[in-house]
Amino acid sequence: MQTESRLRVKIGLEVHCQLTALKTKLFCSCSSDYRSSEPNEKICPVCFGLPGTLPVLNAKAVEYATMISLALNGTVANRSIFYRKNYFYPDLPKGFQISQYDKAGGVPIASSGFVQIEGKKVRITRIQLEEDPGKLSYEGTIDKSSHSLVDYNRAGIALVEIVTEPDIEDAREAKVFLEKLRSTIESLGVSNGELDGAMRCDANISLAGGARVEVKNISSFKEVEKALNYEILRQRTFSGNAASETRHWDERRSITIALRSKEEEQDYRYFPEPDLRPVVLEPGAIDGVRKAMPEGEDAKASRYTKDFRISPQLAKELAADKALSTYFDKCAELHHGYQEMAGLIVGGFSGDAMSEGRAATPEEFVELVRMIESSSITRAQAKEALRESLRTGKPVRKVVELRNLSAVVDEGAIAAVIEKVVAARPEALAEARSDKKAFSYLVGQVLKEEPKAQPGVVAKLLARRLRK
Ligand SMILES: [Zn+2]
Repeated sequence: MQTESRLRVKIGLEVHCQLTALKTKLFCSCSSDYRSSEPNEKICPVCFGLPGTLPVLNAKAVEYATMISLALNGTVANRSIFYRKNYFYPDLPKGFQISQYDKAGGVPIASSGFVQIEGKKVRITRIQLEEDPGKLSYEGTIDKSSHSLVDYNRAGIALVEIVTEPDIEDAREAKVFLEKLRSTIESLGVSNGELDGAMRCDANISLAGGARVEVKNISSFKEVEKALNYEILRQRTFSGNAASETRHWDERRSITIALRSKEEEQDYRYFPEPDLRPVVLEPGAIDGVRKAMPEGEDAKASRYTKDFRISPQLAKELAADKALSTYFDKCAELHHGYQEMAGLIVGGFSGDAMSEGRAATPEEFVELVRMIESSSITRAQAKEALRESLRTGKPVRKVVELRNLSAVVDEGAIAAVIEKVVAARPEALAEARSDKKAFSYLVGQVLKEEPKAQPGVVAKLLARRLRK
């Protein structure tokens, strides 16, 4: 009989992230903008490894890979070495890929590290710099196509490969990990995950007691959850007796298909790349990169909690969106109502509107927050003004004036509404004396009748009415 532990799922990911902020490829001066080109236009003798050519390492790529390594809490090597990974495949013009390796004397750019998700650490084994192969396309599907087409424009593009330990336990967790990884890398400004194929993923999946199956070619993070769920179900059906093999994720049919039995490491005949010197990074240079790096998401969230006393959940949401947090930082220089501002930014804006420059200026925004603080408008009205300003492009202050938004501060008027509400609900009035929920319900009913009323004032007057 199968036990729970026998069915335990272990997933390790290998994420390939293109350094899309680079202008040129990793070892030559070919343009890295392969997406807008005709096939095989952006290639040169170096990309092809023709006799007499030598690769020259892109220094910026090393800097970016170092940034990613530090952001993922990795230990950056002072001296890393490039290796040749030899294999024959049509997408590889040289017959080998210049990569890094962590065995047989190989040292990748960084080792260890972790990504914190939902109270758990996903450990990172290594981070390495390598070149992307070309791009193959098939007529129809990979197993039925009579031929494949190859475009070498992508061959030689700088990739950072991030390899995790098998710490992930289901498809959803993989998705959460990848989203966190992506936002962390994007916040560094070195890679744009929106671009097609800029972040790809291979997954190693095993059910406890079963063989390790590698699923390749998951071309976007969106597909990862689907591919993993399919593969876990497939292996469960084999009762953990799945063969050790490499499978291909077929997006169109949403299934994995067997490609080949899994290569062993010795099949790649790794050896040090003789045409490239080791990458030497003095501790001072690594520190320099660290100092110049934009603040990471986790660091930013804890700064918000510590310096501004913003609640941890709100701080996390704010820090997760680069456009929103940059905006908040500007507002925080102008005004000290941090919690109010953070809540209003997270609840009232979208990152898109922010990056398109359609949002209110920080000065206008702060003016609006001051109106809430002085009780001249309600929080709900402020949100309304922000939304309308986004929609129409009118300044926020103008919207407040035109819509005649103002909080009813006349306590007599609010008291009259309270009388009307409690008269219609005498039983709620009696309950509200001892029951918080009934009290909040009555406040809500008053606000429904008079949306301009300040919730705080309503609560104060209602409490007074209860004592009668
Ligand atoms: Zn080239």
